[in-house]
Amino acid sequence: MNEGPAARPRTNWAGNVTFGASDLHRPATLGQLQAVVARARRLRVLAAGHSFNDLADSPGAQVSLAGLPPEVEVDSAARLARISAGLSYAELAGRLDRQGFALRNLASLPHISVAGACATATHGSGAAQPNLAAAVAGLTLVTAGGDLVELSRQDDWLDGAVVHLGALGVVARLVLELVPSFDVAQRVYEDLPLEALGDHFTGLMAGAYSVSLFTDWRAPRLTQLWLKQRLAGPPHRASSPHAVPSVRPASSPHPAPPVPSITQESWFTAAAAPAPRHPVPGLPADTCTEQLGVPGRWYDRLPHFRPGFRPSAGDELQSEYLLPVEHAIPALHALNEIRARLAPVLLICEIRVVAADRLWLSPCYRQDSVAFHFTWIADTASVLPVVTLAERQLAPFAARPHWGKIFTTPPETLRSSYERLPDFAELMRRLDPSGKFRNSYTDRCLGA
Ligand SMILES: Cc1cc2nc3c(=O)[nH]c(=O)nc-3n(C[C@H](O)[C@H](O)[C@H](O)COP(=O)(O)OP(=O)(O)OC[C@H]3O[C@@H](n4cnc5c(N)ncnc54)[C@H](O)[C@@H]3O)c2cc1C
Repeated sequence: MNEGPAARPRTNWAGNVTFGASDLHRPATLGQLQAVVARARRLRVLAAGHSFNDLADSPGAQVSLAGLPPEVEVDSAARLARISAGLSYAELAGRLDRQGFALRNLASLPHISVAGACATATHGSGAAQPNLAAAVAGLTLVTAGGDLVELSRQDDWLDGAVVHLGALGVVARLVLELVPSFDVAQRVYEDLPLEALGDHFTGLMAGAYSVSLFTDWRAPRLTQLWLKQRLAGPPHRASSPHAVPSVRPASSPHPAPPVPSITQESWFTAAAAPAPRHPVPGLPADTCTEQLGVPGRWYDRLPHFRPGFRPSAGDELQSEYLLPVEHAIPALHALNEIRARLAPVLLICEIRVVAADRLWLSPCYRQDSVAFHFTWIADTASVLPVVTLAERQLAPFAARPHWGKIFTTPPETLRSSYERLPDFAELMRRLDPSGKFRNSYTDRCLGA
């Protein structure tokens, strides 16, 4: 169950972080996991390794949960699933769907683990969709002594423990809220001047179940708009790749304000793409989920990228900033001022919205948010100064960086932007008094 000292250095998915942890444990049972935790002096979980910073590193050992049995127990009446924390969304989604259930939302890729995504407040897009961690209704934590602690919505500190950055213990199981399975059709539109967003941002972002806007900042325009429309009625059982699209939006409890209507041909002056697209200009679309309005299951349309392929560009770095949604347009203008600096090191920028939640360390804590995501070229030295510049431009809007991506926000600024951080620090002291689950990232970002 222990790989021992690494034969070759372990890195994160992007390859920009080489982990210093000496060992990687791979327990095969919950009992073995508890023993690993109890014995370790310092320990952090390494999940799918898709974070772009040193978050998952450890000054002692790392542990992977990939060898634990991949359990999924659905309670249909309560609409809850109890799952093993090592599962990825790709492994989980089909199993839920076969029992008639879905998760409300997904990130741009299904390759990441559920536990790793929730730990960092990973999100998709959607004016009414909170981040993925908001689906957590309970969890089983292996605490520093190797004991199991069960948390549910009856515990008022569950909201503090769900987005935890790996600092409270090892999450062995999660309980997730489910919704009935549903279908989605996605269409990509191309080329919209930035100025068109001025009066229509809110309406556009609420105009579909999930909306993503893309720009390469080479000009003040959106290169692509991805609209994922939830379809009414029961999920279809078979789809032909040539099916005639029937995009019938489900009725929403949040009616959109007046906005130019989305037809199959255009949104405002943006025209529907005639063929499938990749968000990064010039990359082939065969790694992307199906487009052109063809209906498909929630898990085949909500992510941009298909499982089984390398997602996104592959050779890249990422940063992302979340800020109150009412600042979306001024923040967009602030980024437009520096587009000549952004464009040379940028593969693509994505703009999404995320609904407010109640999770203490979520960047969307009690605020509907807009997220500005940057996929950079894989050149840390060239990218970092531009990251700092983007942070400076977004600072007036109280921007918070994504926990799992690259940022240079001064630690004291970061810490002062989370009003529940003192409560989280108290949780850390209570559950992990010896600091077994800490590393230099948590010391820096959460305070020693
Ligand atoms: C191509 C790509 C696309 C992305 N798209 C999005 C996106 O659309 N939206 C978004 O918000 N983010 C996105 N991300 C960022 C990504 O979702 C986060 O970095 C996420 O945390 C990665 O999950 P992981 O399983 O790789 O976790 P890791 O990076 O392995 O771990 C993340 C943290 O969680 C902790 N952890 C993991 N599992 C456990 C556990 N069981 N118990 C305790 N601690 C644990 C780790 O110790 C670490 O601190 C993307 C990343 C990539 C590479």
